[in-house]
Amino acid sequence: MIVTITDSLHSLTRLSHYLLRLREELDRRSRATVNLRDFAERLNAAELDETYSTILRHSTELLGAERGSLLLFDEGTSELEVKATVGPHAEDAHAARIPLGEGVSGSVLSEGRALVVKDVRATGWHADKTGRSYKTDSFISFPIIIGGRKVGVLNVTDKADGGVYDEFDLDLLEMIAPQMALALERTEWHLKATRFQLLSITDPLTGLRNRRYLEERIKEEIERSKRHHFPICFMMIDIDDFKQYNDRNGHQAGDLALEIAAQCIKFALRTEDVASRYGGEEFSVLLPQTSLSKALIIAERIRRRVERSRFPDRNSQLLNSVHVSIGVSEFGPNVDTPVSLISAADQSLYIAKRRGKNCVDSYTPSALSKI
Ligand code: GH3
Ligand code: MG
Ligand code: MG
Repeated sequence: MIVTITDSLHSLTRLSHYLLRLREELDRRSRATVNLRDFAERLNAAELDETYSTILRHSTELLGAERGSLLLFDEGTSELEVKATVGPHAEDAHAARIPLGEGVSGSVLSEGRALVVKDVRATGWHADKTGRSYKTDSFISFPIIIGGRKVGVLNVTDKADGGVYDEFDLDLLEMIAPQMALALERTEWHLKATRFQLLSITDPLTGLRNRRYLEERIKEEIERSKRHHFPICFMMIDIDDFKQYNDRNGHQAGDLALEIAAQCIKFALRTEDVASRYGGEEFSVLLPQTSLSKALIIAERIRRRVERSRFPDRNSQLLNSVHVSIGVSEFGPNVDTPVSLISAADQSLYIAKRRGKNCVDSYTPSALSKI
């Protein structure tokens, strides 16, 4: 009889434990359902440049992880690169690059199969070469694959309640994987578009904007000036005796000189100024919200910087230096279109050349009438 009561008590205790676990599991599942809905919404609302951190932040929240990382696969180098991290020492991990097939993340991606580890000490693995102490010994390493293409790996570890990750957590990750994949693909396309767009407006030799970009931008800036009554200036810069430099030193040396001159111009400018390669050995600078007196100071700064730069073959030139002539124009009553602003700077440049080169000249109607 006594034995039977003890047995019943044991059964009751087991039952109540079982019920408790069942309730916890139910709680966990209903929390996850709410969070899953949230995940999709928040990801869609995220700014493109925050996609990586948004994916990671929400997936670690969903899985109750205090630490996590999102790595993306670079097909060019066959390496995984850390794009976002959360948790202690998060910033330290950013420089890490992991070759495909190496470490936990590298292997998970090359095999295309997630790894759910309850106790890392019981496996041959050790966490990705960070050497830092982890709060728990359980983690999940999850490969992100879009249509058979390797995209990256999501790692979560250090469950906030000290518990272990299990198949349920993996199920959650599998449920959010399509959303992650979509968001990552969207970001990839956006980055590609930005890169292409940048290529189409950039001069490949000097890295300055090209003439096409300048022509669009100058229209916009003139309209802005008209609306807000801002001054605006423009300069045309031409390397002096550059044919001679090319003839004496070769075309490659000439190209290098163009790159150096472009750097000189860039360094002498403020961030709002727009420097472009206008053509051949001619550069232009658009100076929004700038008066003529300020523009002349900037032009003189450029002229001096080029003159003092140590071009490798500068001794082939007349003054043993490479130098430029600069023409400056200012937006005004009879210079109020892109064409007239450019042509006024061009005419001032012509005057600077006639004055003996290596100097700055600015547009004034009376000077032009003398040409
Ligand atoms: P000025 O002082 O009057 O400006 O004389 P210049 O010799 O600089 O002018 P000119 O227009 O006679 O010659 C420009 C030269 O610039 C012609 C060409 O050899 C060189 N050039 C133009 N574009 C490039 C380029 O992309 N690369 C190189 N290496 N040289 C170029
Ligand atoms: Mg020229
Ligand atoms: Mg020239």
